[in-house]
Amino acid sequence: MAQEKRKRQKKVYRRHDRNPMPMLPPDVRAKTFKEFTFGYGHTVAKDEAFRCLLCNRPTCVESCPVENDMPKWIEAIQQNRVFDAYKILRQTSPFSSVCGRVCPVDRLCESTCVLTFKDNGLSVAIGALERFVADSVRTSGIEWVDEKEPPTGKKVAVIGAGPAGLAAAYFLARKGHSVTIFEALPYTGGVMRYGIPEPRLTREALDYEIELIKKLGVEIKTGVIIGEDITINDLRRDYDAIFIGVGSGRGKKMGIPGEDLKGVYTAIGFLMKVNTGEVHPLLAPDEDVEIPKGKRVAVIGGGFTAVDCAIVSIRLGNETHVVYRRTRDTSSARDEEWDHLAEEGCHLHWLTQPVEVIGNEKGEVVGLKCIKMELVPDEKGGRPRPKPIEGSEHTIECDVVIMAVGQGDNPTAYKNVEGLAIDKWNNLSTVDKRYRTNIEGIFAGGDVVNGGDTVVTAIRHGRDAADAIHEYLMTGKWEYEKEN
Ligand SMILES: Cc1cc2nc3c(=O)[nH]c(=O)nc-3n(C[C@H](O)[C@H](O)[C@H](O)COP(=O)(O)OP(=O)(O)OC[C@H]3O[C@@H](n4cnc5c(N)ncnc54)[C@H](O)[C@@H]3O)c2cc1C
Ligand code: SF4
Repeated sequence: MAQEKRKRQKKVYRRHDRNPMPMLPPDVRAKTFKEFTFGYGHTVAKDEAFRCLLCNRPTCVESCPVENDMPKWIEAIQQNRVFDAYKILRQTSPFSSVCGRVCPVDRLCESTCVLTFKDNGLSVAIGALERFVADSVRTSGIEWVDEKEPPTGKKVAVIGAGPAGLAAAYFLARKGHSVTIFEALPYTGGVMRYGIPEPRLTREALDYEIELIKKLGVEIKTGVIIGEDITINDLRRDYDAIFIGVGSGRGKKMGIPGEDLKGVYTAIGFLMKVNTGEVHPLLAPDEDVEIPKGKRVAVIGGGFTAVDCAIVSIRLGNETHVVYRRTRDTSSARDEEWDHLAEEGCHLHWLTQPVEVIGNEKGEVVGLKCIKMELVPDEKGGRPRPKPIEGSEHTIECDVVIMAVGQGDNPTAYKNVEGLAIDKWNNLSTVDKRYRTNIEGIFAGGDVVNGGDTVVTAIRHGRDAADAIHEYLMTGKWEYEKEN
């Protein structure tokens, strides 16, 4: 029956009639911290699901870092089996609500949808459908319970309650292990809570999926800094295995003159203050952030973080500028995110390199000195590189500068573990393919391994590490296999 249906559907290529995501109009959303996209309702979601051809060899699955099984769960939507769709999704990831909202789908799952292969086709809105499934279950009021294996008697300590740590805990708990997460901050979620702002990710959805992990029996101890309050060596005495998922989330500045002036903040310090009310010294040391309201703010950077700082700045009533040394096309944020910001009145300065923060006699910021750039071919055959244009110096007048130029290392948890192989960036890219460090029983994944990527990649690391931890706990086999 399902096969017959697939054959029938394959004849209908609905390449262009993708259902748009409903959202608040720009003038309204620019004034509210509420989530600005509404998500699909049932009728629209079902129509969008029927655009999916349920391919036999789905390329979208390969380009989703957690390999969500699109044909299966999208077919479940077509057949009104939304709870089944969630069950299928939870085999591969515990954060469909989050990923359905924040994944850069245009370079992941949706980038390889077959509908895009001809006539400038538009992909199935996979992210919006994933969000629809998770939101429908959450708002149904029906209690969701994940299945889990009987207890194994093994204990695992997870360090960090970001997506990597929470995903590792989720998959380990489902395999019957007893898991305790140690989190330095007073709350869970990592960057999903202190970094990504509410207008892009409602906390109701995030809280719901974290609660489901707790429901599996995972204990979370917040406000415990591993490496300061307790050490990894202490944990090794009490736990059979350890997963390090501490991210790489320390705020970083650019190293240009004037950046110590009052009113220059790291993106992490600024977002943490707005999102949680506090700047934690572990991740944004020595930062005293005064939230700007009704001022002129320059955000430096071209990625997720710069977009988030600009979204927040606009909603605080600031005249907001984004300054990026490359082009919009080569920025890592999504195209539609720049469109949304432009609609909200944000000034976007492409090919513009900040060279100095200018201050007044009171030590306050009054401007950002910049130089225009042009893209020139890279001699080594890489992507075109920006080169300063002589005589193009100019100043963007502003009162606050926010540097969203990547995050720094945060090795507090593991820097004193004797013999642990740490790379030159102070991270743990030294893990092998199964996320084993060179020390028996200690695993690591997420940004602490790759230096900074996406939520969904961190989830995949957590899931794969959980598989490797399970195998280690059940067999005692340990073979660190790092290729050089
Ligand atoms: C502002 C911002 C916006 C982003 N937007 C997106 C987006 O839209 N889409 C996307 O896919 N990705 C986005 N990213 C990237 C994504 O959030 C990260 O790749 C992801 O969160 C990494 O997960 P993680 O679990 O490895 O680390 P984190 O999320 O950083 O979590 C690590 C956790 O470990 C805790 N910790 C650290 N040290 C210790 C210690 N010593 N003891 C105990 N706990 C400790 C931290 O407090 C934190 O809670 C964004 C990143 C930033 C900074
Ligand atoms: S997890 Fe992200 S990349 Fe994978 S299907 Fe969902 S939205 Fe796409």
